[in-house]
Amino acid sequence: MAALLMAVYFQGMTDEETLALTRIMIDSGERWDWSHLDGPVGDKHSTGGVGDKVSLVLAPLLAACGVYVPMVSGRGLGHTGGTLDKMESIPGYRTDLTHDDFDRLLRSVGYAMGGQTGAFAPLDKELYALRDVTGTVESIPLITASIMSKKIAEGLDALVLDVKWGDGAFMRRRDDAERLAERLIRIGGEFGLKTEALLTDMNQPLGRAVGHALELGEAIAMLRGEPVEGRLREVVEGLAARLLVVSGADAGEAAAAGRVRRALAEGGALERFRKNVEAQGGDPRVTDDPARLPSAPVRRELRAPRAGWIARLPAHAIGEELVEIGGGRRVKGEAVDLGVGFEFPRTVGERVEEGETWCVVHARSDADADLAQQRLEGIVAWSDSAVEPPPVITARFA
Ligand code: URA
Repeated sequence: MAALLMAVYFQGMTDEETLALTRIMIDSGERWDWSHLDGPVGDKHSTGGVGDKVSLVLAPLLAACGVYVPMVSGRGLGHTGGTLDKMESIPGYRTDLTHDDFDRLLRSVGYAMGGQTGAFAPLDKELYALRDVTGTVESIPLITASIMSKKIAEGLDALVLDVKWGDGAFMRRRDDAERLAERLIRIGGEFGLKTEALLTDMNQPLGRAVGHALELGEAIAMLRGEPVEGRLREVVEGLAARLLVVSGADAGEAAAAGRVRRALAEGGALERFRKNVEAQGGDPRVTDDPARLPSAPVRRELRAPRAGWIARLPAHAIGEELVEIGGGRRVKGEAVDLGVGFEFPRTVGERVEEGETWCVVHARSDADADLAQQRLEGIVAWSDSAVEPPPVITARFA
């Protein structure tokens, strides 16, 4: 198997070969069937980034718009975070769901959030471990077969992909991300899974919060209809609207976008979130009182040394810094501190006055806060002239 993986890594695979591998991986495990549900079934997959709390908002939002979402998510590793860990910031919230739990939650709440049960594509798990030790993780056909086998096994009608590129993404280069997006869509299509992808920029964190409970707090704010950072809003609303169109829940982009905005503004999405938290064993009071989420004892405000515009907030280094202060994992299975992290009241392209707070560090100790302050002040780049904020959605593939 190691020899095969090495050969694929160096030689690539044709679409036909990728399709064959995906099929073998799907057939190695269970394949769910939701045909008894009375509406479309959809999900979203992100290739991972820093500050990416999109799923936390998207799942209840889609459920409020009439799409069933059996969301199977992962845990954070290295500089990127994981949806399961973020949801587990809620006291009592359980993510070890069985198929029957998913079924019950879909029927009562409209969505469920669980981890890989080992039921889907168990071959992928074995291959991934082997890829890890043979240095063959970064291969577009192997990534395609790995992601799509699990998503197809989920029994979806429609899938939207958030394929990230840039400094803090799995794919640093935009053209690699484009090739991956195209391949994922083609393989989805071969299995009758309607798939679309948005290519999104991951050169800075998404939204203003980085760290588990802080990100969950930002997601809850968005569900409550409060103003949030524009790039985060654009990605959530963009993915939601496309999924409504692709799944057939809405006839066109304008109708879908209108429905998505109403579900956020009128509380429909928040209501689904609250019901889901309760049904998965968590404390639903966090939706009204985010102070119930884990927090860190030290809060340090970093002030701008000068007036100007933020030119760069490199995502990868910020993700690494979160790991340094205990908010991430270096190796699988390590415990994470859910309360630590960073907030960025200002992001790339925003003006900051001298002495104004541009970052708040939440740390376990003064020593950790000192270290984070030193590093963050070393990586932020300032400009004397206005900086155009870069677009967050850079392409759409269908
Ligand atoms: N995510 C997956 O599930 N598999 C890969 O190979 C890469 C990212």
